[in-house]
Amino acid sequence: MMLAPGATIGILGGGQLGRMIAAAAARLGYRSHVFTPEGDSPAGLVTPFVTISAFDDEAALARFAEAVDIVTFEFENVPAETAEFIAAGGKQMHPGPSVLRITQDRLREKDFLRSIDVGTTNYREVTSLAGLRRAVRDIGQHGVLKTVRLGYDGKGQVMLGPDSDLAAAWRKIGGEVAILESFVDFACEISVIVARNGQGAGATYPPVENQHVNHILDTTIAPARIAAETAMRAEAIARHVADKLEIVGLLAVEMFVTPRGELLVNELAPRPHNSGHWTIDACHTSQFEQLVRAICGLPLGSTEHHSEAVMKNLIGPDIERWRDYIGDPAAKLHLYGKTEARPGRKMGHVTRLIARR
Ligand code: AMP
Repeated sequence: MMLAPGATIGILGGGQLGRMIAAAAARLGYRSHVFTPEGDSPAGLVTPFVTISAFDDEAALARFAEAVDIVTFEFENVPAETAEFIAAGGKQMHPGPSVLRITQDRLREKDFLRSIDVGTTNYREVTSLAGLRRAVRDIGQHGVLKTVRLGYDGKGQVMLGPDSDLAAAWRKIGGEVAILESFVDFACEISVIVARNGQGAGATYPPVENQHVNHILDTTIAPARIAAETAMRAEAIARHVADKLEIVGLLAVEMFVTPRGELLVNELAPRPHNSGHWTIDACHTSQFEQLVRAICGLPLGSTEHHSEAVMKNLIGPDIERWRDYIGDPAAKLHLYGKTEARPGRKMGHVTRLIARR
């Protein structure tokens, strides 16, 4: 089904990804209606249609669903019940609740990836301290213990080394269901963003290289400095996962590249991704416009890049550097309208364009 410009896209979540979806939607003549629990949210500031309510407020959700033509989300920790409530009411939601169910849970996600023959690091489910000791006996102690739910940007993670105190690590996880992953001594981290529409047509952006500081994305180098053959394999993996999920929308696939060129998928995100922000300034179609096209049943746009790019996040107090960037003709500055620059908070990003070689 094609949803023509003029229609209203409902966005669950009010962060910067929602803000940039709304901006791309507006450029194509769509309206956006943001549903967010927070007042004064980055996305809520760029559209007059905003519902401020909790994700479990069914009356507000029903009114929101009534007011929009299609629903998407910018935040994958939207409760599965919220997604199911909207889908049960008959409103189209893309990506659908079944995708959220898999990608909201690190264990389900890795089991799914293994079931479709996609490589991941070794892992074990951990539900107790005794279970953690067993998992360590099985796959070794050099690893990362992560909660299966609600972790992002390094939250809910404990790094384990040969001398780590397992009881302390388990306490830090706080009794949540967790996953122990073997540590990957990677050469670099990359991600691929793939779009897929309801007809099954797909389009991938080239793999980009991601550098993290304190577990938070700091810099994306686009395209990634990897062999062409590795890049092709990475794109094929992303496309394969999107097809198997039958996703309509965007899927970001984060991968480790091992020193031997092996690709191990770390994480999936069924939404626009921070590592795709460079596409706004350097590609014919941004990831945000591509999402709008995919969910509205429009032809997907070209993922060609006219420039190479380096994207840097402005985190917490980095926001103060906007004055340096605004005068630099090669730097494209994006600010998210957040007033409080808390440490670790993504306040904006800057993309530096580099002529294509
Ligand atoms: P995640 O929340 O799973 O995306 O992890 C955040 C970051 O922690 C990743 O981008 C990696 O830099 C690092 N990390 C996570 N899992 C592993 C692992 N199994 N081996 C090595 N580094 C990891």
